[in-house]
Amino acid sequence: MSIELVFASKNSHKLKEVERIVQAACKDFSIVGLHQWSDAPDVIESGTTFAANALLKARALHEHTGRSVIADDSGICVDALNGMPGIFSARWAGTHGKDQENLNLLLSQLADVPDARRGAQFVCAVAIVLEDGTERVVEGLLDGSITRQPRGDDGFGYDPIFQPTGLNLTTAQLDAVHKDLISHRGQAMRAAIAELKSLYNLGCGGDCACKA
Ligand code: IMP
Repeated sequence: MSIELVFASKNSHKLKEVERIVQAACKDFSIVGLHQWSDAPDVIESGTTFAANALLKARALHEHTGRSVIADDSGICVDALNGMPGIFSARWAGTHGKDQENLNLLLSQLADVPDARRGAQFVCAVAIVLEDGTERVVEGLLDGSITRQPRGDDGFGYDPIFQPTGLNLTTAQLDAVHKDLISHRGQAMRAAIAELKSLYNLGCGGDCACKA
Protein backbone atom coordinates (compact mmCIF):
# COMPACT_ATOMS: atom_id res chain seq x y z
CA MET A 1 0.00 0.00 0.00
CA SER A 2 1.41 3.39 -0.92
CA ILE A 3 1.27 6.47 1.29
CA GLU A 4 -1.05 9.10 -0.22
CA LEU A 5 0.10 12.69 -0.53
CA VAL A 6 -2.34 15.44 -1.44
CA PHE A 7 -0.86 17.70 -4.13
CA ALA A 8 -1.88 21.27 -3.24
CA SER A 9 -2.42 22.73 -6.70
CA LYS A 10 -5.33 23.27 -9.06
CA ASN A 11 -2.88 23.44 -12.02
CA SER A 12 -3.68 20.27 -13.99
CA HIS A 13 -0.37 20.41 -15.92
CA LYS A 14 1.64 20.42 -12.70
CA LEU A 15 -0.52 17.65 -11.19
CA LYS A 16 0.11 15.48 -14.26
CA GLU A 17 3.87 16.04 -14.07
CA VAL A 18 4.03 15.39 -10.33
CA GLU A 19 1.94 12.20 -10.60
CA ARG A 20 4.22 11.00 -13.38
CA ILE A 21 7.46 11.86 -11.54
CA VAL A 22 6.38 10.20 -8.27
CA GLN A 23 5.10 7.11 -10.08
CA ALA A 24 8.41 6.73 -11.91
CA ALA A 25 10.54 7.43 -8.84
CA CYS A 26 9.02 5.49 -5.97
CA LYS A 27 6.18 3.05 -5.37
CA ASP A 28 5.90 3.92 -1.66
CA PHE A 29 4.01 7.16 -2.39
CA SER A 30 1.08 8.17 -4.57
CA ILE A 31 -0.42 11.53 -5.41
CA VAL A 32 -4.01 12.63 -4.84
CA GLY A 33 -5.27 15.75 -6.63
CA LEU A 34 -7.46 18.38 -5.04
CA HIS A 35 -10.59 17.28 -6.92
CA GLN A 36 -12.01 15.58 -3.79
CA TRP A 37 -11.95 18.93 -1.99
CA SER A 38 -14.11 21.18 -4.18
CA ASP A 39 -14.06 23.85 -1.47
CA ALA A 40 -10.24 23.90 -1.24
CA PRO A 41 -9.08 27.48 -0.70
CA ASP A 42 -7.16 29.49 -3.31
CA VAL A 43 -4.03 30.37 -1.37
CA ILE A 44 -2.67 33.90 -1.75
CA GLU A 45 0.99 33.59 -2.66
CA SER A 46 2.20 36.44 -0.47
CA GLY A 47 5.69 35.06 0.18
CA THR A 48 8.82 36.58 -1.32
CA THR A 49 10.50 33.29 -2.27
CA PHE A 50 9.48 30.07 -4.03
CA ALA A 51 10.08 28.19 -0.77
CA ALA A 52 7.89 30.55 1.28
CA ASN A 53 5.03 30.31 -1.23
CA ALA A 54 5.25 26.51 -1.47
CA LEU A 55 5.07 26.33 2.33
CA LEU A 56 2.07 28.71 2.44
CA LYS A 57 0.19 26.44 0.02
CA ALA A 58 1.16 23.21 1.79
CA ARG A 59 0.21 24.56 5.24
CA ALA A 60 -3.15 25.90 4.04
CA LEU A 61 -4.12 22.66 2.32
CA HIS A 62 -2.86 20.58 5.26
CA GLU A 63 -5.15 22.61 7.50
CA HIS A 64 -8.03 22.18 5.05
CA THR A 65 -7.69 18.44 4.36
CA GLY A 66 -6.03 17.16 7.55
CA ARG A 67 -3.86 15.01 5.28
CA SER A 68 -0.15 14.84 4.39
CA VAL A 69 0.35 17.45 1.69
CA ILE A 70 2.99 18.45 -0.82
CA ALA A 71 2.91 21.75 -2.70
CA ASP A 72 5.17 23.27 -5.30
CA ASP A 73 5.92 26.84 -6.24
CA SER A 74 7.86 27.31 -9.40
CA GLY A 75 8.75 29.77 -12.10
CA ILE A 76 11.30 31.10 -14.50
CA CYS A 77 14.12 33.46 -13.46
CA VAL A 78 15.69 35.45 -16.31
CA ASP A 79 19.23 36.83 -15.82
CA ALA A 80 18.67 39.93 -17.98
CA LEU A 81 15.60 40.79 -15.87
CA ASN A 82 17.43 40.39 -12.54
CA GLY A 83 15.69 37.10 -11.81
CA MET A 84 12.18 38.17 -12.82
CA PRO A 85 9.46 36.95 -13.47
CA GLY A 86 10.51 34.57 -10.61
CA ILE A 87 7.65 34.10 -8.15
CA PHE A 88 5.45 36.23 -10.46
CA SER A 89 5.82 33.82 -13.41
CA ALA A 90 2.18 32.66 -13.41
CA ARG A 91 0.85 36.25 -13.46
CA TRP A 92 3.61 38.09 -15.36
CA ALA A 93 1.20 39.66 -17.86
CA GLY A 94 -1.29 40.56 -15.13
CA THR A 95 -3.80 37.72 -14.91
CA HIS A 96 -2.95 34.45 -13.14
CA GLY A 97 -2.43 31.47 -15.45
CA LYS A 98 -2.53 33.18 -18.86
CA ASP A 99 0.40 31.15 -20.25
CA GLN A 100 0.40 32.55 -23.79
CA GLU A 101 0.22 36.19 -22.64
CA ASN A 102 2.98 35.64 -20.07
CA LEU A 103 5.23 34.05 -22.69
CA ASN A 104 4.58 36.80 -25.26
CA LEU A 105 5.33 39.54 -22.73
CA LEU A 106 8.60 37.89 -21.69
CA LEU A 107 9.70 37.48 -25.32
CA SER A 108 8.93 41.13 -26.08
CA GLN A 109 10.84 42.28 -22.97
CA LEU A 110 13.89 40.36 -24.22
CA ALA A 111 13.61 41.44 -27.86
CA ASP A 112 16.81 43.54 -27.71
CA VAL A 113 18.78 41.16 -25.49
CA PRO A 114 21.57 39.40 -27.42
CA ASP A 115 21.87 35.59 -27.44
CA ALA A 116 24.83 35.59 -25.03
CA ARG A 117 22.75 37.34 -22.34
CA ARG A 118 19.53 35.29 -22.55
CA GLY A 119 20.37 32.95 -19.65
CA ALA A 120 17.52 31.77 -17.39
CA GLN A 121 16.63 29.11 -14.85
CA PHE A 122 13.49 27.17 -14.10
CA VAL A 123 13.20 26.89 -10.30
CA CYS A 124 10.88 24.70 -8.24
CA ALA A 125 10.43 24.55 -4.46
CA VAL A 126 8.49 21.63 -3.01
CA ALA A 127 7.08 21.90 0.51
CA ILE A 128 5.96 18.91 2.55
CA VAL A 129 3.60 19.15 5.52
CA LEU A 130 2.86 15.75 7.04
CA GLU A 131 -0.34 14.84 8.88
CA ASP A 132 1.45 15.45 12.22
CA GLY A 133 2.62 18.92 11.11
CA THR A 134 6.25 18.02 10.28
CA GLU A 135 7.54 20.39 7.59
CA ARG A 136 10.30 20.18 4.98
CA VAL A 137 11.18 22.25 1.88
CA VAL A 138 13.48 21.23 -0.98
CA GLU A 139 14.38 22.86 -4.32
CA GLY A 140 15.34 21.95 -7.87
CA LEU A 141 16.81 24.07 -10.66
CA LEU A 142 17.24 23.74 -14.42
CA ASP A 143 19.70 26.03 -16.25
CA GLY A 144 19.05 27.22 -19.77
CA SER A 145 18.28 30.20 -21.99
CA ILE A 146 15.32 31.98 -23.56
CA THR A 147 14.87 31.33 -27.28
CA ARG A 148 13.79 34.02 -29.77
CA GLN A 149 10.74 32.08 -31.02
CA PRO A 150 8.45 29.55 -29.33
CA ARG A 151 9.16 25.94 -30.39
CA GLY A 152 7.28 22.75 -29.48
CA ASP A 153 3.78 21.80 -28.36
CA ASP A 154 4.33 19.79 -25.19
CA GLY A 155 4.56 20.98 -21.61
CA PHE A 156 3.01 24.27 -20.48
CA GLY A 157 3.82 27.82 -19.42
CA TYR A 158 7.23 29.00 -20.66
CA ASP A 159 8.29 25.56 -22.00
CA PRO A 160 8.17 26.65 -25.70
CA ILE A 161 10.81 29.37 -25.09
CA PHE A 162 13.10 27.63 -22.60
CA GLN A 163 16.10 25.70 -23.94
CA PRO A 164 18.05 23.72 -21.31
CA THR A 165 21.83 24.18 -21.40
CA GLY A 166 23.46 21.64 -23.71
CA LEU A 167 20.30 20.85 -25.69
CA ASN A 168 19.03 22.18 -29.01
CA LEU A 169 15.42 21.56 -28.00
CA THR A 170 13.06 23.56 -25.83
CA THR A 171 11.38 21.83 -22.90
CA ALA A 172 8.18 21.87 -25.02
CA GLN A 173 10.01 19.68 -27.57
CA LEU A 174 11.21 17.11 -25.02
CA ASP A 175 9.18 13.99 -24.36
CA ALA A 176 7.74 13.74 -20.88
CA VAL A 177 10.30 11.21 -19.63
CA HIS A 178 13.23 13.40 -20.72
CA LYS A 179 11.71 16.57 -19.24
CA ASP A 180 11.07 14.84 -15.89
CA LEU A 181 14.63 13.51 -15.81
CA ILE A 182 16.23 16.96 -15.99
CA SER A 183 13.52 19.40 -14.93
CA HIS A 184 13.45 21.62 -11.85
CA ARG A 185 10.24 19.85 -10.78
CA GLY A 186 11.70 16.38 -11.36
CA GLN A 187 14.75 17.22 -9.25
CA ALA A 188 12.73 18.86 -6.47
CA MET A 189 10.17 16.03 -6.36
CA ARG A 190 12.86 13.34 -6.17
CA ALA A 191 14.55 15.28 -3.36
CA ALA A 192 11.13 15.51 -1.64
CA ILE A 193 10.67 11.75 -1.96
CA ALA A 194 14.09 11.20 -0.43
CA GLU A 195 13.02 13.41 2.54
CA LEU A 196 9.73 11.55 2.83
CA LYS A 197 11.48 8.16 2.83
CA SER A 198 13.67 9.32 5.64
CA LEU A 199 10.72 10.83 7.59
CA TYR A 200 8.72 7.60 7.24
CA ASN A 201 11.80 5.41 7.94
CA LEU A 202 11.43 3.64 4.62
CA GLY A 203 14.32 1.83 2.96
CA CYS A 204 15.05 2.11 -0.72
CA GLY A 205 14.31 -0.83 -3.03
CA GLY A 206 16.64 -1.53 -5.96
CA ASP A 207 14.09 -0.08 -8.40
CA CYS A 208 13.81 3.23 -6.60
CA ALA A 209 14.92 6.39 -8.47
CA CYS A 210 14.69 8.81 -5.54
CA LYS A 211 18.35 8.46 -4.46
CA ALA A 212 17.37 8.23 -0.76
P1 IMP B 1 2.85 28.66 -9.61
O1 IMP B 1 1.56 27.93 -9.77
O2 IMP B 1 2.74 29.93 -8.84
O3 IMP B 1 3.94 27.76 -9.09
O4 IMP B 1 3.22 29.12 -11.09
C1 IMP B 1 4.25 28.59 -11.80
C2 IMP B 1 4.33 29.27 -13.16
O5 IMP B 1 5.70 29.20 -13.58
C3 IMP B 1 3.53 28.52 -14.22
O6 IMP B 1 2.26 29.08 -14.41
C4 IMP B 1 4.39 28.68 -15.45
O7 IMP B 1 4.13 29.90 -16.05
C5 IMP B 1 5.80 28.73 -14.88
N1 IMP B 1 6.39 27.36 -14.84
C6 IMP B 1 6.69 26.62 -13.74
N2 IMP B 1 7.17 25.42 -14.07
C7 IMP B 1 7.16 25.39 -15.41
C8 IMP B 1 7.53 24.37 -16.34
O8 IMP B 1 7.92 23.25 -16.01
N3 IMP B 1 7.39 24.71 -17.63
C9 IMP B 1 6.95 25.92 -18.04
N4 IMP B 1 6.56 26.89 -17.22
C10 IMP B 1 6.68 26.63 -15.90
